[in-house]
Amino acid sequence: MALRNIVQDGDVILRSKCRPVTEFNDKLHKLLDDMHDTMNKANGAGLAAPQVGILRRLAVVEVGDDYLELINPVIVYREGEQIGEEACLSVKNRSCVVKRPMKLKVEHFDRYGNKKITTAEGFTARACCHEIDHLDGILFYDNEYRG
Ligand code: ZN
Repeated sequence: MALRNIVQDGDVILRSKCRPVTEFNDKLHKLLDDMHDTMNKANGAGLAAPQVGILRRLAVVEVGDDYLELINPVIVYREGEQIGEEACLSVKNRSCVVKRPMKLKVEHFDRYGNKKITTAEGFTARACCHEIDHLDGILFYDNEYRG
């Protein structure tokens, strides 16, 4: 188990656009494993690579007792909406309401470079949107919903 430091709001890393993952190698697997550990230790529900200082397009999202690994993710379908509170491991002492789709489909790769399409609903859909936003330097409160 290896924990990584979680970058905090105010650091330019969190406002940077990430580059695609191109190598599905041991280094990537180690990064994903470390991100799982770091997220669990911090009691988070998701973590994106820039939050641990890596400007690549990948994130992990907790789904029950399992994890979704989103590598080079693209949301290809959205349905419905949900309005609810969000917070972030990189933004201490702040939460706000954000509107997200209720259901979505994400095209992404797994850690071995296989292309996947994952359907996510409810909280998982919200978490996927939040983490994918991180890859483009967007933080949840940029999209605060004010009704
Ligand atoms: Zn976040």
